[in-house]
Amino acid sequence: MLLVFLYALLDSRQNKEMKKTLLISALVGLFGLVILFFSLPSIVDSRLNQVYSSKEKVFLEETNKLHQSLFIADWHSDSLLSNRDLSQEYERGHVDFVRMRKGNMALQMFTTVTEVPMWVVTQNKEHDFDAIFPLALIQKWPQESWESNFYRAIYQSQKLKQFVERDKKMSLITSKSELTEFLSKRAEDKEQIAGLLGIEGAHVLEGKFENLDKLFEAGFRMLSMAHFFDNEISGSAHGESKSGLSELGERIIRRMNMLSMIIDISHTSHEGIQDVLDISTKPVISSHTGVRGTCDNERNLSDEQIKKIAGRGGIIGIAFFKWAICGEDVDAIVKAINYTINLVGPKHVALGSDFDGAVKVPFDVSHMNLLTNALLESGRTHEEIALIMGENIKRFLLENLP
Ligand SMILES: [Zn+2]
Repeated sequence: MLLVFLYALLDSRQNKEMKKTLLISALVGLFGLVILFFSLPSIVDSRLNQVYSSKEKVFLEETNKLHQSLFIADWHSDSLLSNRDLSQEYERGHVDFVRMRKGNMALQMFTTVTEVPMWVVTQNKEHDFDAIFPLALIQKWPQESWESNFYRAIYQSQKLKQFVERDKKMSLITSKSELTEFLSKRAEDKEQIAGLLGIEGAHVLEGKFENLDKLFEAGFRMLSMAHFFDNEISGSAHGESKSGLSELGERIIRRMNMLSMIIDISHTSHEGIQDVLDISTKPVISSHTGVRGTCDNERNLSDEQIKKIAGRGGIIGIAFFKWAICGEDVDAIVKAINYTINLVGPKHVALGSDFDGAVKVPFDVSHMNLLTNALLESGRTHEEIALIMGENIKRFLLENLP
């Protein structure tokens, strides 16, 4: 297009007035392209991470009091994939530190996504074009992350550390002692919030056992075995092989136990989940899932799996998006939570929102009170709500972090 304009501009047969018009049009076009290039990451973020409704609701005094008394924690947010500076407040996307405080969210696991098929469906016959590559390009990630999943995770961890540095009341937690310290700071000052680092999919290891320790050293404390496709460690629930853990996968589980790194079975194949449960000497979690009892699909956990995970002291984090809970409102989340509680009791259920995970959810992190209210309305006691909203995650981390 620009070339056509240039050609017309240089054509000596055009009169002066025409040349002026063409020059202005070319400049406007060029300017538009530059604006589009720089605003593309924000447009993509707004399109991918939407909310169904963010209307303020007025609650009873009892609800507000309960909500403010809670320690709220969440197992899963992919916010580091966006181009937002999480130390600032935004109107798009789901999570930033300012909105965490508005919603009384105390602790957020920030998960890093490193490779995703462009067209995500429940069943991926084959892994097509990687969607993170163009995202890394338009967000101008460092070149070494263009082709390496390992560096994509490292880069996102560096982003979080920068955001934490910019916010004096935000802590990155990597150990029991840091968590204990944070809890005592928060008891004094509710502006104090914290985050942890996790990874979605063991393809991040690029097939190398030694990369696990490197990721641990970088501060990562949770890793899921697979994401949307089979990898060298395990089959995925969405993959073709449906295979369990490989030999390398078994070594990874043992090493994660030794390091006290949390094993996440989200997206993992059935066979893979069974292998993890057989091998791991420590409790495991599902960081963001639905349950088949309320939403029957390949990605969600069966009653039998829920009972096994809970039976070993693990936790099921209920996700907030439609594919996981078969609904678009807060009641669908509560339905999945209540189903799981009825199956294994309130000590094994937690939140696993999947905020900013390229999903549309009923509310962003600043409106967590909608969930407190819906749980109360569904008949849950204050004690049960406290466990689900965050006490279970707190207890698990205090017991299982290094
Ligand atoms: Zn996921």
